[in-house]
Amino acid sequence: MVSKITHSPSADSSGIYRRPRLVMRLKRYEEIPNILGKTKSYPTPIRMVGADYSQTRCVGGDGGTTVDTSSLDRVLEYGETTVRAQAGVRVGTLVRALAERGLELPLTPEMGRISLGAVAVTTLPQASYAAGTAQLSSCVAELKLITPQGKQMVVTERERDLMRVLRSSFGLLGVVHEVVLRVRPLTPVKIDYQVLSLKEFAARFSAIAGAPGALRLHISPFNDRITVERRTLDEAADVSRSGIWQIRNSVMRNVLPAFGSTVGSVLAAPGLRAVMLSGMQRALRATLDRGAHGVVMYSHEWMRDLPSEAWKARHTYSLWAFPQADYPKLLAEYFTFCKAYYKEHRYRCNVVSGASRLHQDRGSLFSASYAGPMFTLEPSSTGDKGWDDFLIDFNDFASALNGTPTFNQTRALQPEHVAKAFGERVKLFRALRQRTDPLNRLRNSYFAYLLG
Ligand SMILES: Cc1cc2nc3c(=O)[nH]c(=O)nc-3n(C[C@H](O)[C@H](O)[C@H](O)COP(=O)(O)OP(=O)(O)OC[C@H]3O[C@@H](n4cnc5c(N)ncnc54)[C@H](O)[C@@H]3O)c2cc1C
Repeated sequence: MVSKITHSPSADSSGIYRRPRLVMRLKRYEEIPNILGKTKSYPTPIRMVGADYSQTRCVGGDGGTTVDTSSLDRVLEYGETTVRAQAGVRVGTLVRALAERGLELPLTPEMGRISLGAVAVTTLPQASYAAGTAQLSSCVAELKLITPQGKQMVVTERERDLMRVLRSSFGLLGVVHEVVLRVRPLTPVKIDYQVLSLKEFAARFSAIAGAPGALRLHISPFNDRITVERRTLDEAADVSRSGIWQIRNSVMRNVLPAFGSTVGSVLAAPGLRAVMLSGMQRALRATLDRGAHGVVMYSHEWMRDLPSEAWKARHTYSLWAFPQADYPKLLAEYFTFCKAYYKEHRYRCNVVSGASRLHQDRGSLFSASYAGPMFTLEPSSTGDKGWDDFLIDFNDFASALNGTPTFNQTRALQPEHVAKAFGERVKLFRALRQRTDPLNRLRNSYFAYLLG
């Protein structure tokens, strides 16, 4: 039995234009072969949608069938080193359930509204702790998918090459319905931050990049300020309730407003512990006065859940990654670019730009740090007038400086950017896709334009 089908009113809940003919909610994964096989009932392209939070048209309906996976929402099995779950489960739900069992993912994103299907097949770079795991897809140890021909496939990490391609496949090589993710014991994270000028950042860069821990930067070109946030795993750290600072209320409140008042409001989405115990609130008030000392917390506590309707999230950004070795120089060029752009067009991003350090990770073909260690650069905005035009020029800037984009988080991408960044890897993926899906059952116009 196939689930109820509704005709799409027109487009898009994310604000990104697309027009599927049918939108349907999958009830059971066993329906997938039937949907793929019946081209008259289910028009091409067949595109999966998870949480609908991508920044691009990578879901892309194009007069075809959009299949919502959110009913595949069961966590199937908790083990000591892995967890098995269906593709529609949200990362936020999973991370909270793991925390209750004293477990966590090797990487925890700041936003919980990401489906495990997207975790498995898209580019989700995170501030990383060690080489080999800089993207969420590298936490995927096994996946189950249905091929364009309707066949079930089970792929494990042992099949390295196949896994590498599937982790970058964006629903073009098959429909993922189940994943196994690696987990580890919940470990306290110590968070320190320092506020530097660009000159200071450049002078200390090798020490900053060389010290252990994950790095997240908050960059403000017009104030000449870079906040370096270092997250260090610290098993011995004291995470008594009174010792924890909520990141939203400490780093965000203390440091970021220095960059401009809009930041606070954009980041004020309710966090996991928005409703805090009164004891916690008292502890917070006491610690807030003490200035910039270390914050100790568990990673699930920095996760926030944006609204379930993606278009209601006012925060928008675009993401490129750049080689670590040249990063201070790149930032200097970015500051100059932003100032020149403002002078000419009177537009500047109204939210602080983010950045993450990525260790090298070859776990997926289109990994942002495939070639070596990288830092991302993420211009951010509330999507105000002038933002879309800014991104067009920013993309050319980023591509000229050897940036690597993503297909789900880099907006206004052009084929020449893709060809320059991925070279032979694009050709390899194209050849594979043509072989596995010769009828283009799963391909939409977005990927036809960028990948062929
Ligand atoms: C405001 C905002 C804040 C964000 N913050 C963060 C953050 O803090 N950290 C972070 O890592 N990311 C963040 N993101 C990015 C977001 O996590 C990614 O774009 C991610 O891809 C969204 O997941 P999704 O489930 O919404 O994917 P969707 O947009 O639903 O799908 C993404 C792609 O995967 C394909 N797909 C989905 N499910 C399947 C499946 N089962 N089988 C095959 N293909 C499938 C889709 O067809 C599409 O091509 C943010 C995005 C926004 C808009």
